[in-house]
Amino acid sequence: VPETVGQAVIPLVNSLQDIIARLDGDAAAGLELPQVAAIGGQSSGKSSVLEALVGRDFLPRGPDICTRRPLVLQLVRHASPEEWGEFLHAPGRQFHDFEQIKREIQLETDKEAGDNKGVSEKQIRLKIFSPNVLDITLVDLPGITRVPVGDQPSDIESRIRAMIMQYIKHPSCIILAVSPANADLANSDALQLARLADPDGSRTIGVITKLDIMDRGTDARNFLLGNVIPLKFGYVGVVNRSQEDINFNRSVQDALAFEEKFFSTLPAYHGLAHCCGVPQLAKKLNMILLKHITNMLPCLKTRINAQLVAVAKEHAAYGDTVESAAGQGVQLLNILRKYCEAFSSMVEGKNRVSTDE
Ligand code: GDP
Ligand code: MG
Repeated sequence: VPETVGQAVIPLVNSLQDIIARLDGDAAAGLELPQVAAIGGQSSGKSSVLEALVGRDFLPRGPDICTRRPLVLQLVRHASPEEWGEFLHAPGRQFHDFEQIKREIQLETDKEAGDNKGVSEKQIRLKIFSPNVLDITLVDLPGITRVPVGDQPSDIESRIRAMIMQYIKHPSCIILAVSPANADLANSDALQLARLADPDGSRTIGVITKLDIMDRGTDARNFLLGNVIPLKFGYVGVVNRSQEDINFNRSVQDALAFEEKFFSTLPAYHGLAHCCGVPQLAKKLNMILLKHITNMLPCLKTRINAQLVAVAKEHAAYGDTVESAAGQGVQLLNILRKYCEAFSSMVEGKNRVSTDE
């Protein structure tokens, strides 16, 4: 089973989310997991990368402009083995057929942005319920284009850039800067925008797609090693499905198998296993999420303590009937605090393991 988003951190994050869910609304504010946004030029492979990370087929992809509205994809982990999708615009309707999810995205896109290549900044919000995911939000954004086509306004490029910035400017947003290997990295729209939003590169992962269709005699070794444009978290090279694979309905699993074979047979990528393939991308993403969680733990502890003090005061005002709501609050918060401390040491343990690797 390939490693999809978050599998390595699911137990940690679930306990964390249990804690946060028990806090007051105010105390929980700002402690959400970061969003992950895929940015880049049109047809660079953004939707393909997100799909591969989720491990399911459900996003419109193609050589033309497909993603024309931001798609906010909320992954929701649940206990039952069933997987389905639900759109905000169609409440209560469960989409169990992922092919139908794709059609619904297309219909909704046309509804708001017209059927002639128009682009709209109005979001489509989709929740995917599954036992195999982490509660995280992925954002698929329209790609950067230069020449207006169809119904696109003359300032399409600056509009799309502004739209992308709205998402990636948030300090908690993790940026997947997607660039195709068959173009020069120095021309990458993704890296240029990512640098604007995240100048010190503390939340950007470079993703290089289309390694399989580079010019003969060239390879992406130097890109991947960061010799061309260095990035703190480095790059991951991936091979997604080609248009032909899409036309022939090749599955995500087949594509992952093909990718693995690609990297293991090409001598140019030998010794680069740590930065090749979708599973490595998932791993890198997990590492960054874990780091984010570690960073927010002190804040979480402070908020729990503050809430504890407030409730204890209330409790004192009532006298010491333990059955009172305030008394129960104190007990609950004490449990939470212990939980939080246990969680910290768990994360520290994990971090030790990952730095030992
Ligand atoms: P987006 O516009 O950035 O979301 O790009 P898509 O994911 O829609 O992909 C655009 C086109 O490029 C589709 O026809 C994909 O099949 C193709 N594509 C994406 N990644 C790769 C890749 O790694 N290799 C090959 N051969 N084709 C790819
Ligand atoms: Mg797309």
